[in-house]
Amino acid sequence: MTYTEWLREDRLPHIYCAGCGNGTVINCTLNAVDQMGWKKEETVFVSGIGCSSRAPGYIMTDSLHTTHGRALAFATGIKMASPDLNVVVFTGDGDLAAIGGNHFIHACRRNIDLTVVCMNNQIYGMTGGQGSPTTPMGALSTTTPYGSREPTFDLCELASAAGANFVSRWTSYHVKELTRAIHNGLKTSGFSFIEAAVQCPTNYGRRNKFRQVMDQIEYFKTHAVLQQKADRLREEGKPLPENSIVVGEFVHRNRPAMGVKR
Ligand code: SF4
Repeated sequence: MTYTEWLREDRLPHIYCAGCGNGTVINCTLNAVDQMGWKKEETVFVSGIGCSSRAPGYIMTDSLHTTHGRALAFATGIKMASPDLNVVVFTGDGDLAAIGGNHFIHACRRNIDLTVVCMNNQIYGMTGGQGSPTTPMGALSTTTPYGSREPTFDLCELASAAGANFVSRWTSYHVKELTRAIHNGLKTSGFSFIEAAVQCPTNYGRRNKFRQVMDQIEYFKTHAVLQQKADRLREEGKPLPENSIVVGEFVHRNRPAMGVKR
């Protein structure tokens, strides 16, 4: 099977805006799932609400498109009832870290055997561009018209501190690395969290000086700092370059997990 065979082509054309980064992440995820050799009837995709959460509708497996912020609660139920299923969750920064924040930390704490792929576009895309917990300080959104004054969540640090077995971050520029990270997450028993920074030209980019889609992808390329380099700079007491996006594999461990295949 090739990864395109996981796509539900009768649902096309998709709803995503031209140049949206979500398609890249879906592509990387299906590629990684295909590498696992999983059967479609043994795999379930789950999502909450938002642009990212429309993804399972385009995939040829059973899926649950649930309520806002509750994807992990539904996914937990699936895994506890049927541990032999492979369960993958698509979510976004608003869905996961705002209304779903409590489910996120407790799913990490329980270390449930799920793989969660978060498309972090730093804004609420589907509902018109409100600020989210990952909207950078100073960034414009409909709810922060003078620039966000709130510090952001680092989703990977949150997942690491709360107990996830696998934590990694890449961007829509880093297609090979992102695919490899998702594959490693799928192979890891327990809670795997992969954050993918994505461009949202419609609601983030146009308000924040990324006038072309490629401007934001170029930004990801030039501002990504490998975790090893970031660690070295910290050890040397040097600051990270301004607006760095630290990428890499942050956690890969073997804490006892729940919902693991029998
Ligand atoms: S609003 Fe943003 S995240 Fe949503 S589909 Fe359009 S570009 Fe993608």
